[in-house]
Amino acid sequence: MTIFEKILHKEIPTTIIYEDEYALAFPDISPQTPIHILVIPKQKARNFSDLNQWSPVAIGEYMHSIQKVIHHLNLTDGYRIVFNTGDQGGQTVDYLHAHILAGETLGWPPF
Ligand code: C5P
Repeated sequence: MTIFEKILHKEIPTTIIYEDEYALAFPDISPQTPIHILVIPKQKARNFSDLNQWSPVAIGEYMHSIQKVIHHLNLTDGYRIVFNTGDQGGQTVDYLHAHILAGETLGWPPF
């Protein structure tokens, strides 16, 4: 079981920023920006590529939850959403998660 599944099942404590039927949001343990929140789906997926096994409705529900987290955070100055995917994409935890990065002007390109 991945660390995020343990967080999802409340086996590891975290500060819950937002939770609904489809997703859970909590702060990244090693924030890269002043605001750095992770949003994980309740339906299991290893990464973004695995979403090809989900229905469009389920994908939409997860995206809707991410949108609700952003609304809750009131990120009026902008933000970035990142899905690191696979080894070259920099993914280190094999459970789908969206990074929400905000709170400062972000550089581009992101590497
Ligand atoms: O996209 P990637 O898989 O690299 O992101 C994993 C993220 O999970 C990292 O930003 C890391 O800081 C975070 N993390 C966490 N709590 C843990 C383990 C990792 O917030 N217990």
